[in-house]
Amino acid sequence: MTYETVRGMRDILPEEVGYWTSLELQVREVARLYNYREIRPPIVEYTELFSRGIGEATDVVGKEMFTFPDKKGRSLTLRPEATASVVRAYVEHGLHAKEPFQKLFYIGPMFRYEKPQKGRSRQFHQYGIEAIGSLDPSLDVEVIEVAWTLMDSLGLGGLSLRLNSIGCAKDREGYREVLRAHFSSRIAAMCEDCQRRYLENPLRILDCKDPRCQAAIESAPGSSEHLCADCASHFSQVRALLEERSLSYRIDGRLVRGLDYYTRTVFELVSEDLGAQDALLGGGRYDDLVERLGGPPTPGVGFAGGMDRLVLVLTERAKAVSCSERLDLFVVALGDDGRKAAFTLARAIRRAGVSVDLDYRGRPLRKQMAYADSLASRTVLVLGESEVASGRGRLKDMDSREEEDVPLTAEGISSAIARRRGRWNLTSS
Ligand code: AMP
Repeated sequence: MTYETVRGMRDILPEEVGYWTSLELQVREVARLYNYREIRPPIVEYTELFSRGIGEATDVVGKEMFTFPDKKGRSLTLRPEATASVVRAYVEHGLHAKEPFQKLFYIGPMFRYEKPQKGRSRQFHQYGIEAIGSLDPSLDVEVIEVAWTLMDSLGLGGLSLRLNSIGCAKDREGYREVLRAHFSSRIAAMCEDCQRRYLENPLRILDCKDPRCQAAIESAPGSSEHLCADCASHFSQVRALLEERSLSYRIDGRLVRGLDYYTRTVFELVSEDLGAQDALLGGGRYDDLVERLGGPPTPGVGFAGGMDRLVLVLTERAKAVSCSERLDLFVVALGDDGRKAAFTLARAIRRAGVSVDLDYRGRPLRKQMAYADSLASRTVLVLGESEVASGRGRLKDMDSREEEDVPLTAEGISSAIARRRGRWNLTSS
């Protein structure tokens, strides 16, 4: 009997892991530049956190959660997103009492019971940032800028920013009525989900992807035309600041995002190369969420980005974020003396930070060279009887085919590799 992964979940195999670690490093680096600190909430939370935080009428809560009882019958859920958890932590640990303004980021797996397809899975991975404690429109712009900076650092072009404002709770109440009026004559011909959404929360109709509903959605009035004076002013400041920084955007009045906690600014960064699942990241303000989860009234803004899609784009464009996974050195060891010397030398070289591997199977030169090739080792050093006797060997650069005479000491070999490393980083593959 053999076993398979659960539907919608997959192994990330060693060949792909390089993209993930580079991406994680890049997220951490950009977060550092803007002073966001990492937080690692647990993967399992009480279900109520999400039903209250994200909203009962959303697809995420209504249909997509992995929910199960624990041994005492309490309802637990694998987190479908992390903003609710970050806000819970902010309230639970009294972060607001120590310093109400907090800039946090996270990286980790999320779980949604969705129909798996390219770019959409049941276990997926997100990175995200949350800036809690200020209503300043420049913070909205900082959050958007972090997203652009990260995409730039990954060399991703062909992206566009969709921007909208859905206003405060009061504005949304009014907008819901505007939407009901718009959909009332059309709802009978729309999907069953939308008929339910029409009663529960017509805003959610705007997220519907069913072809039967698209014409009615496309003619719906936009939310940014129905804002109170404060929200309209916030939105125009956000737009002005984006323009000042030459961060381009496209207003999409029907962008509402699938989670109920959003207020005012909402945005999505989409890739032109991804087809249907084109959203690389999405976010916005959530000025009522801290209070809704039991904290003092505190505004917040953030975004979450999908890593699986980013890796997909990066792989497809073969624009590898410098994959540092190539082996630095493979030592081909021949004969007992060669094997013994290689085993000792490898340990000393690794201590100098150079990655080294050996064959360990006592195979002939040709097989060991082929193995070094399959590992994409950057350099190879042959260690046989004569090299051991003379204390010197030839370090071969497998890309340029150059050879260099090196002393068989950890220092001699690691400094020869360090000299080459500058060049590898420039032409990284
Ligand atoms: P959301 O939390 O729904 O705002 O999604 C934020 C980002 O996470 C999206 O733009 C996607 O890049 C990614 N994402 C959401 N759901 C999935 C999924 N099921 N599979 C892969 N990526 C996802």
